Amino acid sequence: MFFRNLVFMLLAFLVTTNVALAEARFDSQERIAIIGAGASGLTSAFHLKQLGYENITVYEKEDRVGGKVYSYPHKNYVYELGAFWVTDGSHTIMELADYYGIEPVSEEADFFVLRDNGKTYNFEDNLLKNYNFFKISWALLNFEWVRGKFGSDIAKVGNDNIHSDLYLPFETFIHKYHIEPLAYAFRPFWIGCGYGYYETTPAIYVLKLMVPSIVDSLAQMFNKANPFAGSEKNGGLLRFPNGYMGLFERVAEDVPHLRLGSEVTRVERVFEDGRLVIKVTANGQTEEFDKLIVSADLRAALQFLDVTDEEEALFSQVSSYNLHIKLVEAEGIDQPLDSMIWFDEYGTIDTMGHMMTLVNRAAVPNVWFTAQLIPWGTSSEEIDEWLIEDVSAAGGHVTDFVVEKPWDYFPYVGEEALRDGFYEKMKDLQGERGTYFVGGALNFETVEFTAVFAKDLVLSNF
Ligand SMILES: Cc1cc2nc3c(=O)[nH]c(=O)nc-3n(C[C@H](O)[C@H](O)[C@H](O)COP(=O)(O)OP(=O)(O)OC[C@H]3O[C@@H](n4cnc5c(N)ncnc54)[C@H](O)[C@@H]3O)c2cc1C
Repeated sequence: MFFRNLVFMLLAFLVTTNVALAEARFDSQERIAIIGAGASGLTSAFHLKQLGYENITVYEKEDRVGGKVYSYPHKNYVYELGAFWVTDGSHTIMELADYYGIEPVSEEADFFVLRDNGKTYNFEDNLLKNYNFFKISWALLNFEWVRGKFGSDIAKVGNDNIHSDLYLPFETFIHKYHIEPLAYAFRPFWIGCGYGYYETTPAIYVLKLMVPSIVDSLAQMFNKANPFAGSEKNGGLLRFPNGYMGLFERVAEDVPHLRLGSEVTRVERVFEDGRLVIKVTANGQTEEFDKLIVSADLRAALQFLDVTDEEEALFSQVSSYNLHIKLVEAEGIDQPLDSMIWFDEYGTIDTMGHMMTLVNRAAVPNVWFTAQLIPWGTSSEEIDEWLIEDVSAAGGHVTDFVVEKPWDYFPYVGEEALRDGFYEKMKDLQGERGTYFVGGALNFETVEFTAVFAKDLVLSNF
């Protein structure tokens, strides 16, 4: 009895001491700087505020918030020059949308794949043009197996300590796991969204997008072989009718100190009197902080951060694509209104430069959204020429360029960096010298994947 009471008292002591220590550690006035007001920076700010932190400063080099969420009003429509969609499964973003009372609506556009014969097909019929029922069924069985084997790695926030087969270029992975038809069906969407090529992209990234999109169960087998099959149109893709950026503008309103037009040019992390001081310089002014969250691209951080050798070695391994978005006025393109055209023939790396996506909206029939993946260093004249040729191959001619937005897009690391422990090392780096890293390279380039990483990081470290 005496012994039991002693154990109980000891436990009670430990619990209360831990609570007291945690309370002593929490300081609502801790000075926290965030570099970048995109999805990951603003999601970090939101959750820091929810935790009770009051002294948060967000630096953003542009005059607007949102980063790669960029809504552009033109004539009768709000175009997205960056992120388009969210789904019901995007819990972190839906949580923000609910909090601010912003309701997404279904994406009602029709999706088509345009083949080199000039005809359009829905995803299902396009798949059936290349593969028969038995091959598709076999691939579906194998895909179920893939989901069973790798599901928890794919769903993981961050990509550390995952199965090494997920490091393989997706092209290799597809053949190893015999899922060729499904990979083929998914490819126009993957490339059309600007994520590059199966030949070079490690499987982990493709599967992060493919698994939630592809058919949900074997019971739906054949007639649901469409990668966007499901009870709702386009697999339940949703969009914000007044623009995705509006959501992040609302989040930004609650940031205690938002500094727009403030490009961070220098960060120094120094110890003064045994205490860490983080000095952030923007527009020639330096402010001091206790903690720092970097949401800017890791390679961009090399330009302003006093990086260690280890940080430099890691950040330099990140690659990305040169994604060009344009709104053009064009006549003669013979496609129904509110349609999204994905190109079947531009699925491999040797077709780089061609337009992979063409979208119109009923509200403005002659304005087309276009997307091209461009080799780095290509001149803007050449980019325009390729586009004009591709639009004419689709039966139309460009009458005007409305707006263009080039993106440094989809930061990722290749197979070698994954094998070399990139994500394990990034995880160990979090919190060193009061600095944390969020953004596309840390998980995967979508709003939800960057936001969930940022939320998780804040809740686990602050
Ligand atoms: C055309 C396109 C379509 C897309 N479609 C979808 C979609 O349908 N659904 C989806 O979920 N995702 C989509 N995405 C991806 C999604 O937009 C991104 O993954 C996400 O927005 C990235 O957020 P982030 O905060 O990590 O980075 P960013 O949005 O790039 O934010 C980083 C911010 O840091 C700022 N910054 C950089 N350097 C500095 C500096 N030195 N000082 C101050 N500020 C700095 C930048 O200006 C930027 O605002 C799309 C993206 C594009 C481009």
